[in-house]
Amino acid sequence: MGRKKNTPTDRRFMMADVARTVRVSPNFVRLTLAGLDGFEKRGADHWCRLFFTRQGQDVLALPTRTTEIGWYLQYLATPKARRPWVRAYTVRDARPDVGEVDIDFVVHGDEGAPIGPAVQFALDAQPGDRVGFLDQGSAFTPDHPHDWTLLIGDETALPAIAGICASLPESVRGVAIIEIPTTDDRQEISAPAGMETIWIPRDESSRAYDKPGELALRALKAATLPDGAVHAHAIGESGLATGARRHLVQERGVPKRHVDFAGYWRHGRAATS
Ligand SMILES: Cc1cc2nc3c(=O)[nH]c(=O)nc-3n(C[C@H](O)[C@H](O)[C@H](O)COP(=O)(O)OP(=O)(O)OC[C@H]3O[C@@H](n4cnc5c(N)ncnc54)[C@H](O)[C@@H]3O)c2cc1C
Repeated sequence: MGRKKNTPTDRRFMMADVARTVRVSPNFVRLTLAGLDGFEKRGADHWCRLFFTRQGQDVLALPTRTTEIGWYLQYLATPKARRPWVRAYTVRDARPDVGEVDIDFVVHGDEGAPIGPAVQFALDAQPGDRVGFLDQGSAFTPDHPHDWTLLIGDETALPAIAGICASLPESVRGVAIIEIPTTDDRQEISAPAGMETIWIPRDESSRAYDKPGELALRALKAATLPDGAVHAHAIGESGLATGARRHLVQERGVPKRHVDFAGYWRHGRAATS
């Protein structure tokens, strides 16, 4: 996304402890991380990088450089045996007064794909487990005049869409399309009265799909959308994010700069680390 982002000026690696875990719905586990003193809540789709040890590692070796390129080059230069896992997650909620951040992990891995290390960490997490934390700020920063807002994503985007909806001014109107594994994975979303939320639970679908995100994309293609200039934000499985952008630009004539999109994960491929 080419827009100016709302990022921290003083980036630093922080060490957090797991305070508690709770299964919030069939396919989401919430980890509360504590010890994040000085964390500034930015709202919207505020995200972070989490670092945790690989099997056999006693020490969580975090990079020391904090620029966006610097830390990653340093990370890549570290022998794999000493490198921690790193994964991107959204800040679902935060209580800076007590240094706590909540992260909602989608529990994937029962569709034949191998379970990822991040999900394994979330499932096994015990109070006191250590996690490295790098604040990435928020990416939802529309900077062009628009009449309505479109948010679309799969379950990995639910925390971000919930955060964006909660941050929107009350005057905003639009549509949020969220695909989730089951009806019971729906969450309470606080949004302006003019934002309609369309939930697409896969367990209620009679239509076949190959991967998460496909049903949301089909819903977008079939939808009658409001008139006027849109700001669209498409996030989640990479085929959904790019497919939504392609559809809006090529089929609906939306200018490219009115559509932000980000592949949060790729079906059949582990995140690079
Ligand atoms: C900015 C940003 C914010 C994000 N916020 C969240 C968030 O709040 N909550 C959240 O759960 N995820 C979020 N994600 C997505 C998350 O980073 C990925 O799903 C990540 O790949 C999970 O790591 P892993 O170690 O479990 O699996 P990996 O080791 O990366 O992958 C292992 C296998 O699992 C598959 N896989 C990965 N994720 C999923 C999934 N969700 N469903 C089905 N199969 C999957 C991969 O295709 C691969 O085959 C976010 C990503 C970004 C970039």
